[in-house]
Amino acid sequence: MTRIEEICAGKGMRLTPLRRKVARILAETHSPLGAYEIVERLARDGEQTPPMSVYRVLDFLVAEGLAHRIESRNAYLACTHSHGDEDVVVFLICEQCGLTQEVSSHAVGRDLAWAARAVGFVPRQRVLEIAGFCTHCRGAESPEAK
Ligand SMILES: [Zn+2]
Ligand SMILES: [Zn+2]
Repeated sequence: MTRIEEICAGKGMRLTPLRRKVARILAETHSPLGAYEIVERLARDGEQTPPMSVYRVLDFLVAEGLAHRIESRNAYLACTHSHGDEDVVVFLICEQCGLTQEVSSHAVGRDLAWAARAVGFVPRQRVLEIAGFCTHCRGAESPEAK
């Protein structure tokens, strides 16, 4: 079972076969996938799915907090851990291999909330995207050393 399947089972939420398949595809990857890449992967398994259906599934997963949308890449990633509502979710995106790691920070969330409040702003999304290089890519070929 994927983490998404486990959470849904725990909440008594119904996962349609397509939702289950998309959850599995997202669980298998460490870099965010675009909706059309997901359509392609489904097709590889002999499943012809209209992109609109995949978008609907992705909207559902994001709304339930089971997946995240990486705005800068217009792509999706399964949520790998639970975080509090106040936390800021930070995506560390490797520019070389696309590996995307999710970390969350309560301290950053608190500071941001404070800074936003100071200018009367109410944040709706608390997501940061940081581009850089993962351990693997740094080790293989250090970008700073070039
Ligand atoms: Zn998450
Ligand atoms: Zn990398």
